[in-house]
Amino acid sequence: MSRLGVLALQGGYDAHAKALRDLGHAVDEVRTADELAAVEGLVLPGGESTTHLILIDRFALEAPLRAFVASGKPVLATCCGLILCAAEVVSPPQKSFGWVDVTVARNAWGRQVHSFEDTADPDSALGPVGLLFIRAPRIQRVGTGVQVLATYRGEPVLVRQGNVTAGAFHPELTKDRSVHAAVFGRG
Ligand code: GLN
Repeated sequence: MSRLGVLALQGGYDAHAKALRDLGHAVDEVRTADELAAVEGLVLPGGESTTHLILIDRFALEAPLRAFVASGKPVLATCCGLILCAAEVVSPPQKSFGWVDVTVARNAWGRQVHSFEDTADPDSALGPVGLLFIRAPRIQRVGTGVQVLATYRGEPVLVRQGNVTAGAFHPELTKDRSVHAAVFGRG
């Protein structure tokens, strides 16, 4: 069993913690550099990316997060997390950390009322994983070093670069645990 962390500044971190516990992992909420240093893997959850950027700054977490990613420990980023990890954010442009060489357009899968659930294309590398989109970012460009793990109607929705796996959707809100298991294994 490994001790995993969920960044718990804002947004949907609790559902990720439950998903990881379903797989048998111990989970800590992470709000400080010391808490981050104590975990072996990290989830960057859904939420509001503009708010996350403000809180990451206020809690002085940018440098510790960069060091965590550089250490090679597994990271799963969903929705807002994907936006934070992207190389470039458009619609509108905003700061991001550049851990995954993709361009994402915010809120481009539709507004909150257009939230929807479906499954990934069956020929996806991870198979037909459960998808739930909530004001989700759309991946507009995928760099050459980036692996596409799942597509939806031919568009990339789950990508991986090195130790960072990032999805436009919310795997923690479906019954399917295969995305969490693919990143962190089973506890
Ligand atoms: N629309 C949000 C943003 O731009 C992300 C939505 C989500 O994480 N469910 O930050």
